[in-house]
Amino acid sequence: MNLYSALRAGFPADLDTTAIDADGALYTWRDLERGSAMLANWLQRLDLPAGSRVAVHTDKSVEGLLLYLAVLRAGLVYLPLNPAYQASELEHFITDAAPGVVVCASRNFGWISKLAFQRGVRWVFTLDDDRSGTLLERAVQMSDVHEHVARAPGDLAAILYTSGTTGRSKGAMLSHANLLSNAQTLKAYWDWQPDDVLLHALPIFHVHGLFVASHGALLNGSKMLWFNKFDAAAVARRLPEATVFMGVPTLYVRLLQETTLDTRAMRLFISGSAPLLIETWREWQARTGHLILERYGMSETLMLTSNPCRPQDGERIGGTVGPALPGVGLRVVSDAGQACAVDEIGHVQVRGPNVFSGYWQMPEKTAEEFTADGWFKTGDVGRLGANGYLTLIGRSKDLVISGGFNVYPAEIEGFLNELPGVDESAVIGVPHPDFGEAVVAVVTPAKGSVPDPDGLIQALKGRIAGFKVPKRVIVAPELPRNAMGKVQKKLLREQHAGLFG
Ligand code: ATP
Ligand code: MG
Repeated sequence: MNLYSALRAGFPADLDTTAIDADGALYTWRDLERGSAMLANWLQRLDLPAGSRVAVHTDKSVEGLLLYLAVLRAGLVYLPLNPAYQASELEHFITDAAPGVVVCASRNFGWISKLAFQRGVRWVFTLDDDRSGTLLERAVQMSDVHEHVARAPGDLAAILYTSGTTGRSKGAMLSHANLLSNAQTLKAYWDWQPDDVLLHALPIFHVHGLFVASHGALLNGSKMLWFNKFDAAAVARRLPEATVFMGVPTLYVRLLQETTLDTRAMRLFISGSAPLLIETWREWQARTGHLILERYGMSETLMLTSNPCRPQDGERIGGTVGPALPGVGLRVVSDAGQACAVDEIGHVQVRGPNVFSGYWQMPEKTAEEFTADGWFKTGDVGRLGANGYLTLIGRSKDLVISGGFNVYPAEIEGFLNELPGVDESAVIGVPHPDFGEAVVAVVTPAKGSVPDPDGLIQALKGRIAGFKVPKRVIVAPELPRNAMGKVQKKLLREQHAGLFG
């Protein structure tokens, strides 16, 4: 098998119809087939050992997607990297992954090629988002016919480094079978239609844009309206032509700032990668009449749960990430590993054909993150309702234990975000001589406001139990975020570690 051949089987019979409309640059299905064949032929010419990684640190482009397909076809391992990563980060990834090929933007060729060659990488090519670069120059000389390299279901197709929200990024090893099973599950569960059109405005170095979005459209033979970058006004202009949209929560927040949102043709709005605030969900419903479908997944497991798409599968409930997807096992357990009761908060564990085989070159870490009976510990904390819907509460690493009581930051953040003068908040635990950990809130001011820390503390008292009320509120201009836009609480904890000592 080969994931590419499964995706290819989803292409429409007429290969000369449009597959991708990238701001007016049209690509037919035949273009995808031929372009990825040329690239695959070039990669195979390099005669790399089986399982070689192709590391890609480029800006988003359709050719970048073709390169991904080519890596699959050639039986190599795709390793995308966030183009925001700088020298120290790249040094780590290249040393860790030891790729056979590195592809980068031409503006970064100088430093990346040096770094790569010093670490034994023989091939460094460039690929820019304007269809230029040495990679395409080489590939155009190759045949546009290619027979995919057969792979076993468990063979690696990609290594995706996690976002690095809780610590250093880890390389999640994903097989052809992991990716295909998840793509097929989502095709059925999200009820992809023959005439669907996907508006693709997510980056393709991450699970959401690369796998969930692209696989969905390719497997269904659906046209994509392609954006190399997210621009709310430009996306809003093309929305009337689309039927499916996938975004991280901030994309929805930014779209809500647009004056016109014509969503009449739209079938499905999907959100994931980070918590979608219930306020955003409600506002979206009020503005467009659509209930955003929120789903939950991670680099290690692909998609795990999803709110239903079709009414017969159940209701779409804001603030939850829905039930486990068909074929995915999901349980919530206590610290001691006992199954939690309905609505009881605990650790989320999963298993299924979508779950990765382990972290790249981290056998101990991999062993730690699986239970003896083979479940993967997601590191997320949540509760399962009687209806089987999962509500995520936060990450186990972010849980605060103050005076022996568990405090879930998301709950306090929910209250803080509602208070006047507060834009965003992040609640953390910092060492405290009496309580073990003390609850501390870092808040950013709403436009034109100067929040008063003591006032906020007073406002919370009486609304939530005393042990949950932050001992200290710190006003900061912004919250530290990683390249994926996720709040890095680890940095906040380090920064404020000495507050009570
Ligand atoms: P790292 O593992 O390096 O700390 P990360 O966990 O942020 O980083 P990803 O694999 O990109 O790396 O993200 C997966 C995580 O994103 C999940 O474990 C979960 O915490 C969060 N997440 C994904 N979807 C949702 C969602 N719908 N609501 C809340 N959180 C979500
Ligand atoms: Mg993670």
